[in-house]
Amino acid sequence: MADATELSPMGALEIAGLRDGFRGELLSPQDSGYEDARKVWNGSINRFPALIARCAGVADVIAAVKFAKDNGLLVAVRGGGHSFPGLSVCDGGLVIDLSPMKGIRVDPEARTVRAQAGVLLGELDRETQAFGLAVPSGIVTHTGLSGLALGGGINWLMRKYGLTVDQLLSVDLVTAEGELVKASVSENADLFWGVRGGGGNFGIVTDFEFRLNPVGPSVLAGPIFWLMEESPNVLRFYREWIAEAPDELMTIVIHRKAPPLPFVPRELHGKLVVGVVCCYAGPIEDGEKVVKPLKEFGSPVLDLCAPKPFLAHQAMFDASYQHGWWYYMRACDVAELTDDVIDITVEHSLRINSPLTAFPIWQRGGAAGRVGEDETAFGGRGAGYTFNITAATETAEGFDEEREWVRDFWSALEPYHMGVYVNFLMEEGEGRIRQAYGAKKYDRLKALKRRYDPDNLFRLNQNIRPDVTV
Ligand SMILES: Cc1cc2nc3c(=O)[nH]c(=O)nc-3n(C[C@H](O)[C@H](O)[C@H](O)COP(=O)(O)OP(=O)(O)OC[C@H]3O[C@@H](n4cnc5c(N)ncnc54)[C@H](O)[C@@H]3O)c2cc1C
Repeated sequence: MADATELSPMGALEIAGLRDGFRGELLSPQDSGYEDARKVWNGSINRFPALIARCAGVADVIAAVKFAKDNGLLVAVRGGGHSFPGLSVCDGGLVIDLSPMKGIRVDPEARTVRAQAGVLLGELDRETQAFGLAVPSGIVTHTGLSGLALGGGINWLMRKYGLTVDQLLSVDLVTAEGELVKASVSENADLFWGVRGGGGNFGIVTDFEFRLNPVGPSVLAGPIFWLMEESPNVLRFYREWIAEAPDELMTIVIHRKAPPLPFVPRELHGKLVVGVVCCYAGPIEDGEKVVKPLKEFGSPVLDLCAPKPFLAHQAMFDASYQHGWWYYMRACDVAELTDDVIDITVEHSLRINSPLTAFPIWQRGGAAGRVGEDETAFGGRGAGYTFNITAATETAEGFDEEREWVRDFWSALEPYHMGVYVNFLMEEGEGRIRQAYGAKKYDRLKALKRRYDPDNLFRLNQNIRPDVTV
């Protein structure tokens, strides 16, 4: 593999080899459009690729892969650009940017949808909800479907319909050799197992096919907030209440400073609050009965849990995770919200400084938890909760302090860690990637990597290295 820095700036002659017939755009540092195209969602990531190949279709992806292989280039693959550690952009080297590939085709009768690799979650929901259907995907509309689905995809519907990968029927994938293959339960079944959680390690997925399920179009959903002082009691009540909850109910707990948004009363702005965000994916009247005890607990300061279009609920967090802010995150799964876990959570939440820091604790279980651990590459089906300790600042100012807060909090929870969701990893080293899958599955993934990408062309990801562990 050539040193990426040697390839920057890439010579005109070299690029000419790719330009011939390329239907999308090729952007070098001197081109207008390069500056926007190199930026990713996390503003703390600032990298300068030698070339960005914005692919218009599968033929462009094949050409870009062959070009990278022939020239020994460092390759980054970009779907929606939302990797927390910025793995979809590189310094020097080639970014294979799939974001122009936006095709979506719903088959309402067969209840399936095909979506290309550049599709964002909100775009997919828009098309599927036109028929009252949905793919269980993620909670922010501007996240890329590609990276999310390849890592697993935890979501508002997962307790009823499973992870995003649990509804995946097939993928089209361009291998490191530049060949297009299909993977499903009946074709290249080993690869199909691997792409359901193994990330972009085995090739570039150009097209996904999902099963669709009925959702909404209206759901009972939204947050109920209490002042943070109430959090110890709210969390103790919450863990008992959800123990009996049906699969239709999915919840996320948020600790943050109340944002100055129009629907938040002015007197709450900037106050530390705890919120339980609900989404009931069933009849609204049933949801109202299920959520009633929560609404009546303690003294809520704001209750926004009401019937609304599923599409509106999916966009609820968009304003809290804006493009270009600086983000840092550490994550872990825990089995239970024990008293100790609750105390650690509250103690650290009371120290949130930035008005943009908002971290979710995801309820797990339900349908996603009942799929066998070895049925897909995704690791951690048995988790009780996922802590996604995320800090954000608008710029570099204050970022180091927020990052320290994340690290302290995550370390305090260490005695309770039981694994980690691979899409919530920063660049944390091979040990952590192994932890995300478990040792046995990690070895199986390594064998698959040796088969599909022995030279590790696709290595800017949560990398499963092809070498045999000794
Ligand atoms: C605001 C926000 C909200 C999120 N919400 C959720 C959520 O609700 N549920 C959840 O499970 N996760 C969530 N995540 C995590 C998310 O799943 C990952 O960040 C995911 O990697 C994003 O995918 P992307 O296509 O946008 O990212 P990118 O940065 O484009 O890609 C991420 C990784 O996947 C690889 N990749 C992307 N596309 C392809 C492809 N087609 N073929 C091969 N490799 C590819 C890239 O090379 C890179 O390594 C969220 C992240 C953010 C930033």
